[in-house]
Amino acid sequence: MAARWPEAELPLFADGKRVNDPERALQLVATEARGCTRCDLYKHAIQTVFGEGPANASLMLVGEQPGDQEDLAGRPFVGPAGSVLDQALHTAGIDRSQVYVTNAVKHFKTEPRGKRRIHKKPDTSEIDICRWWLDHELEIVQPAIVVALGATAARALTRRPLTINANRGRLIELPGRRQGVITVHPSYLLRLQDERDKRREFDLLVKDLRFAASAAAEARA
Ligand code: SF4
Repeated sequence: MAARWPEAELPLFADGKRVNDPERALQLVATEARGCTRCDLYKHAIQTVFGEGPANASLMLVGEQPGDQEDLAGRPFVGPAGSVLDQALHTAGIDRSQVYVTNAVKHFKTEPRGKRRIHKKPDTSEIDICRWWLDHELEIVQPAIVVALGATAARALTRRPLTINANRGRLIELPGRRQGVITVHPSYLLRLQDERDKRREFDLLVKDLRFAASAAAEARA
């Protein structure tokens, strides 16, 4: 992939070197993140789950944190919430392979319950500390639109608490002169009991993703 930045403005510092190839830069940052001990979450997870997708993606999706299956696989959104996301992307006409997918927090926060590992929400300090890696991803990929999937991602991206329903369906200004769209995390749909509620929320998620994709295409046109 062609270099994208002027020499003097290279955005990444990895292993003491500035890297002018976005694909290589992502690889280096992902490798660095594997050994991250910036907060305590690495102690109880199997591995760092870094983002994946093209380094020139116009759309970036940011979730909360890896779940049990993501922690095992080392890839984001491959568990039940990932299936919902895949269905929603497919329905919205978005090719996941063209989207950069990541999480606000790169280690699975869990508490043991018997043999099961139960998801535990990351706290504000963990979100803020792990933003180090998210900021690198944003700076390298430079997506036209960033989609916050849920309140944790919205907090990481906007650096303030935001209500999803009051802010979805429109573009949100993000730090660094970026633009974002806020929607629910796909796991929210898994927790709904009523099928009509699930259907309604799925349709709203698809609508938000379509809006984001259309805004990204417009920004890159
Ligand atoms: S959660 Fe983020 S900041 Fe904390 S150890 Fe993992 S990668 Fe590092």
